[in-house]
Amino acid sequence: MARVLFINSGSEGHINPTIGVVQELISRGEEVVYFTIEDFRERIEKTGATVRTIDAQKFIKAFISGGRNHLLERVNGLLHTADIVIPSVLEQIKGEHFDYIIHDSMFGCGRLLAQILKLPAINSCTSFAETKVSFDRTLEHLSQNIPAEIFKRINNEFQNLITKIKEKYDVEISSPYEVFCNPAPLTIVYTTREFQPFGEAFDQTYKFVGPSISSRLTQENFDLTEIKGKSPIYISLGTVMNRAIDFYKLCFKAFKNTDHTVVMSIGKQTLLGELGGIPQNFIVKNYVPQTEVLKYTKLFITHGGMNSTNEGLYYGVPLIVIPQSADQPIIAGQVANIGAGIQLQMQSLTANQLYDATDHVLNQPSFHKAVANISESFQKAGGYHQAVDEIFKFKSQYHI
Ligand code: UDP
Repeated sequence: MARVLFINSGSEGHINPTIGVVQELISRGEEVVYFTIEDFRERIEKTGATVRTIDAQKFIKAFISGGRNHLLERVNGLLHTADIVIPSVLEQIKGEHFDYIIHDSMFGCGRLLAQILKLPAINSCTSFAETKVSFDRTLEHLSQNIPAEIFKRINNEFQNLITKIKEKYDVEISSPYEVFCNPAPLTIVYTTREFQPFGEAFDQTYKFVGPSISSRLTQENFDLTEIKGKSPIYISLGTVMNRAIDFYKLCFKAFKNTDHTVVMSIGKQTLLGELGGIPQNFIVKNYVPQTEVLKYTKLFITHGGMNSTNEGLYYGVPLIVIPQSADQPIIAGQVANIGAGIQLQMQSLTANQLYDATDHVLNQPSFHKAVANISESFQKAGGYHQAVDEIFKFKSQYHI
């Protein structure tokens, strides 16, 4: 049995794929201490892990203080979180021994903690992976649109932050890539090499294990018998950027008075009452047990979050992707590339367009064929079982 330090202070999308991994680690005898925010305590405790927390308010405030407009500002935001995460984790594990660390690819300063604690590190990557070359190319491309003096200010801040962090914690930070992607000797990526853009560019330290989907063990208020046998359309914009009242009303307009049953998850930032009258063929909730709902779903209208996309394709559901931000446009592009769905633009979207696109995807056999292929490859990839097999191979390389 080894003791594992798990660091993950991200949102739901960063947490969900790790649930199965932690359960599996524990079932194979590992002891896991999992750092997250209070919101996810119950979900993680049910895996059998010991949960310790990082202050969510302070963490978000620090992250946002870096700025939100440019990628390098987000990198700075992540650096600002170092003073929230590192002292808190070090204080809470004082005097304890760990054999290795698993950290999120983005949130929680995992690479820094691995250096400070001198632990073999595993990176848990819940989006597409990035090589340094691909990340630097994106950063350079996006930086071209930033006025010179603003770029200089952001870059100076980056240099100041890394100097301070290096002095304070005696760690090495040599690039924005290290801060944003937290590379490690082993990276677990929760999709397949085939679905990953430029999958062949990743060496054998990247293990593409496919979607990690497990029972989430949360009490959700949703009666699945209401949708069994009804093949609903499922609509969700995920758990972060989901306050989109106009879009939800547009969905009402597109599908009311049709034969479709529609399940719509509107997120926790919008009250049901804000949507006005709900058509009788709609089931609208703030949150649904998505991986259960998808088992019955005939079409998923999604923002193209990595987890939602993985989960939809895993269960063989064609997608209409309406990307909002972050990695979603790239994910939407990959879905369209493999023929598993189509991409629409939120800005110009109309109810008629959404209805017609739905009709098209549901009635065109090529979408169903492409989705069946990717679903099979996702299911074969092994998910959290494969992830833990890779973690155990890694342990033996490190004589743990
Ligand atoms: N999710 C859920 N119920 C909901 C909405 C979302 O269980 O009503 C889960 C979904 O299954 C996925 C995660 O929340 O695992 C959302 O992650 P994703 O990467 O798709 O999007 P994000 O929320 O990070 O934008």
